[in-house]
Amino acid sequence: MKVVSKFGGTSMADAGCMLRSSEVVIQQKSCVVVVSATSGTTNDLIQLAKTSHTGSWTEAVAIIEKIIFRHQKIAAELVLTPELNKNLEQLFSEMKSLAQGINLLEDCSLKAMDKMMSFGERMSSVLFVQALNHICKNEKAIFFDVRTVLKTDDQFSKAKPLTSEIIELCKIHLSDEKLKNKIYVTQGFIGLTKDNATTTLGRGGSDYTAAILAEGINADSLEIWTDVAGIATTDPRITNKAKPISEISFSEASELATFGAKILHPATLLPAMRKNIPVFVGSSFDSKATGTWVKKEVKDYPLFRAIAIRKKQALVTLSTLEMLQTHGFLFKLFEIFNKHKVSIDAITTSEISVSVTVENDVLDQKELFSELSNFCEVTIEKDLSMVSLIGNNINHTPGLAQKIFGCIADINVRMICLGASRHNFCFIVNENDGNAVVQKLHDQLLVQ
Ligand code: ASP
Ligand code: MG
Repeated sequence: MKVVSKFGGTSMADAGCMLRSSEVVIQQKSCVVVVSATSGTTNDLIQLAKTSHTGSWTEAVAIIEKIIFRHQKIAAELVLTPELNKNLEQLFSEMKSLAQGINLLEDCSLKAMDKMMSFGERMSSVLFVQALNHICKNEKAIFFDVRTVLKTDDQFSKAKPLTSEIIELCKIHLSDEKLKNKIYVTQGFIGLTKDNATTTLGRGGSDYTAAILAEGINADSLEIWTDVAGIATTDPRITNKAKPISEISFSEASELATFGAKILHPATLLPAMRKNIPVFVGSSFDSKATGTWVKKEVKDYPLFRAIAIRKKQALVTLSTLEMLQTHGFLFKLFEIFNKHKVSIDAITTSEISVSVTVENDVLDQKELFSELSNFCEVTIEKDLSMVSLIGNNINHTPGLAQKIFGCIADINVRMICLGASRHNFCFIVNENDGNAVVQKLHDQLLVQ
């Protein structure tokens, strides 16, 4: 049995959390452990880079000290070996030099930002080796630099893993022979380009790293340990009637992750699906509590499984009379979006217009919008929420729309997408209505 386990920031927050997470590693007999930065550190590192760039150096030093203090405190409690201590000190000094570099150059590229963010995972993984060796006593845990295998392209801040290369490198560096009687502790979130520049896979990317490594070593299962006991029918902060889901299919879970459930990084399930590796999501704070299994086949396929909400969405409507009875309009539009590397989430079209949803942030891309307006009329509505009902056979169930909209008759629905997926029905509402819509739909459709 080969198990890859990933621990998120809250499972790494302090020495106590790290020791508790280490117990889980032993209990689950994991052979590869992927860790996130300690809770809050990635945000602090981003702040550090920004402050070094445009703020005062005194403020930057205060952030450096805060980060170092947090890690030194854990190191002292875990009683780090001299070697691990040296590694940690080395990371502190590299982090400081990078901040100085950013400050002197008054330049903070995405490449520099990725390098800065990488310190979080690099520091936490050094500490976790010690935590694990405390629990398993016989020095089974060893530090592994994930960048040895995790090669990516050079899209800094959202780098794409080079799958086939990674698989080949895993065969060499994480072979069965190497993993025998050892526990490899490694970093989530970070990678390396062909030119040896450090990259990151995007915020929350450690889940994705764990899945890529699970694929790379052909693992029997992948475990994502977080601070909640699995995936729920909706965000429990929106309604206290949200219930845990014990099993969910890959298709439903990937819709759920993509359409707003914060629990898994949206790309995580791709490698697991490619190799059919079951994924478990559970709480490192209560590892015996039931979590959620995400698998290819599950026991039941209910019409409604869960409801997700994605906030901060914008609706961009593009219209031109030239679209009337001609071809190639959509092609040209998508070419422009593609050129600016903007991902479109939902689309509806009429004879002379097309509406697409994008993240609110995309509205800052001035060049994209000037290109679009050169060739059609552009209208923008922002601060919307996308509500998605996830389940099975959604596009083949008579009376479904009536059932859904009957529950929220008083709400203005801006756009509806039904039909493209068997597993998802989504629509757009004003951000102010979002939570109320989720609560109503959840409590009427998912609570029996
Ligand atoms: N530390 C990174 C972040 O906060 C990656 C992760 O935790 O998955 O986004
Ligand atoms: Mg996470």
